[in-house]
Amino acid sequence: MAKNVSAQVNLTLYGKPIALQFAVPADKVTPLGVLPALQQIDNQFVDTAVAAFVGTDQSISCQAGCGACCRQVVPLAEFEAYHIAALVERLPEPRRSAVKQRFTDGCAQLDRIGWLERLQQQLEQGSTHDAVQNHALDYFRQNIACPFLEAESCTIHPDRPLACREYLVTSPAEHCREPSPDTVKHIELKFQVSRLVRKLWKTKHITQPDSVPMIYALQWVKTHPNQFPKKRGAEWMQEFFDYLAKP
Ligand code: SF4
Repeated sequence: MAKNVSAQVNLTLYGKPIALQFAVPADKVTPLGVLPALQQIDNQFVDTAVAAFVGTDQSISCQAGCGACCRQVVPLAEFEAYHIAALVERLPEPRRSAVKQRFTDGCAQLDRIGWLERLQQQLEQGSTHDAVQNHALDYFRQNIACPFLEAESCTIHPDRPLACREYLVTSPAEHCREPSPDTVKHIELKFQVSRLVRKLWKTKHITQPDSVPMIYALQWVKTHPNQFPKKRGAEWMQEFFDYLAKP
């Protein structure tokens, strides 16, 4: 049986001391092995942010049963793409085939408008933040529901991507159905685990963009086998906290 080692990291967030307690594999693993610890840390960062904004004019408006944001592009860190593909493979039939079909249909719809190709071109040409944001709106306008969204609820909630955990909106929920940079207001988290690990851990597979759009994850994993090195869980987490502490 795989052994874990436990750790505690103390830090101050939004003026409050928090203790992050987590366990990571003692053996050498790829970053996938520390994903449960990262999810737990991300949850704690998000909960602390939500609590800090309660009762202010930035209270969070997201509620269970609202899946309006689940039609947006979800940026996965490279190793999260392997996690999502493995998760789909573990689904029982006939659900597995149904979910795979949703991924295939979503990619086909985006390919018809050349969405991924245009994104890569824009990033290679060093497009502005506004241009990339407009491109994300193009994705939304396609109205492609996330393959894991059913009855407007996330069916993989405990396993959902890091970026999904961090998407917190303070503007009225109805604005999310027709989002624009002017009407949808987000909380900018002090520490965004998803963004940190996208920048920190990637192989030569990833150039532009620095993430895999989730809808392309199954397709991408087939053509990009996992090439991450293996390190002890504690070493990966040391790298993560060193990076997080950088000014
Ligand atoms: S994984 Fe879940 S939370 Fe994330 S976009 Fe899909 S349905 Fe929404």
